[in-house]
Amino acid sequence: MKMKMKKCKSCREYTIEDKCPYCGGDLGEVFPPKYSPEDKYGKYRRKLKKELSLEDLNERNIHKNTGRS
Ligand SMILES: [Zn+2]
Repeated sequence: MKMKMKKCKSCREYTIEDKCPYCGGDLGEVFPPKYSPEDKYGKYRRKLKKELSLEDLNERNIHKNTGRS
């Protein structure tokens, strides 16, 4: 799903339409941040943790079962 959020330059309403549905005014593009810095950090930490545990699992698999790639 790809949606571009736009903001009306006249009434400052947000819309995904080509034209402001409220006043028909000019729209400016907005790029809303997907994650707050806090969420991003949490995601990074979770990712790191996952990678570390995967690495750990891989190592164990190598010892247990070398035929599996
Ligand atoms: Zn408007």
